[in-house]
Amino acid sequence: MESVEVSDTVVRVEARTTAKRAACPGCGCWSGRIHGSYLRFPRDLPAAGKLVVVSLRVRRFACMESSCPRKTFAEQVPGLTRRFGQRTERLRSTLVSVGLALAGRAGARMTNVFGAPVSRNTLLRLIASLPDPLTSAPRVLGVDEYAQRKGRIYGTVLVDVETRRPVDLLPDREADTLAAWLAARPEVEIVCRDRAPFFAEGATRGAPQALQVADRWHIWHNLGQAAEKCVYQHRGCLRPSPAPPDEPQKEADPAMSSPWPTGHRFAERTRAKHATIHALLAAGHSKRSVARQLGMGLNTILRFSRATTPEELFTDQWQSRATKLDAYKPYLDQRWQEGCTNAWKLWEEIKEQGYPDGGLDPGFWTPETLGS
Ligand SMILES: [Zn+2]
Repeated sequence: MESVEVSDTVVRVEARTTAKRAACPGCGCWSGRIHGSYLRFPRDLPAAGKLVVVSLRVRRFACMESSCPRKTFAEQVPGLTRRFGQRTERLRSTLVSVGLALAGRAGARMTNVFGAPVSRNTLLRLIASLPDPLTSAPRVLGVDEYAQRKGRIYGTVLVDVETRRPVDLLPDREADTLAAWLAARPEVEIVCRDRAPFFAEGATRGAPQALQVADRWHIWHNLGQAAEKCVYQHRGCLRPSPAPPDEPQKEADPAMSSPWPTGHRFAERTRAKHATIHALLAAGHSKRSVARQLGMGLNTILRFSRATTPEELFTDQWQSRATKLDAYKPYLDQRWQEGCTNAWKLWEEIKEQGYPDGGLDPGFWTPETLGS
């Protein structure tokens, strides 16, 4: 240390290196022949709110090894500088910690607060330059796809199901890529995947020793779809139980008072979505995460999460608008309950009762009208 000068806002530190020798980064040989010296100004962490300006004199050594491609090299101070580094090591490791905790934008705002402002891209670059953490091959491997650009570019994400941590990302969702990854890791005992054929093929070829199972989400999803389909096909067997005559109308089951009869596909789908979203939210998933998992927009999730019952959503969507159809709804409800779900037939029936047929009259689109 040559000098330290403290003013109201700045601490100025002048320092120089004192080591007699330095090791060449090219060949590892030690050299004591000084070629020259120059000043470096590595940025440092602020001290007690004051900006720290370091002026560090370092030397350039000549490499004595004749076979070494490097003729000269600059010395580094362990724990303080690194080659091409513009910051001290302690500032660098602090910024890395901020980046890992908060990522780009939020991290950049935080570095502003403690007086070492950097851009979000700098934080992301620092994180990207970290060595990959060592991971052992998982025993139970989860395989799923992820979108780099939704609808366009998909990759494969591999997760250690037991630790619930992502293990690797593959750039595509091809059977060959997955097979090659698995072939290099024979420790995998169980592959947990969805039902996409490329994952099935990749797992079979790459890990013939492993047991393949469908993941829980897809089993529940498929079961839900099958149950919905089955119930829908047998809706004719379902009759609403007649309400006791003394029960006031208000306390009737909301599903019965909804504008759409049970079994209507929009209503059923909305109820199913509502139940799924509320179950995921109750399980502690964030709204953003639920939106991602279900492939729905965040605004849709917000709308569903605001509604305590699915019927509130029907009110939003359908009940508030008066339409010409309103007068015919009791009749349509009754016919639907009787099992007539053919829209064309229902339309012809209410047309006979006086429903305005407008331009949708099927007779309008006869060959004669089209030809004329
Ligand atoms: Zn050398």
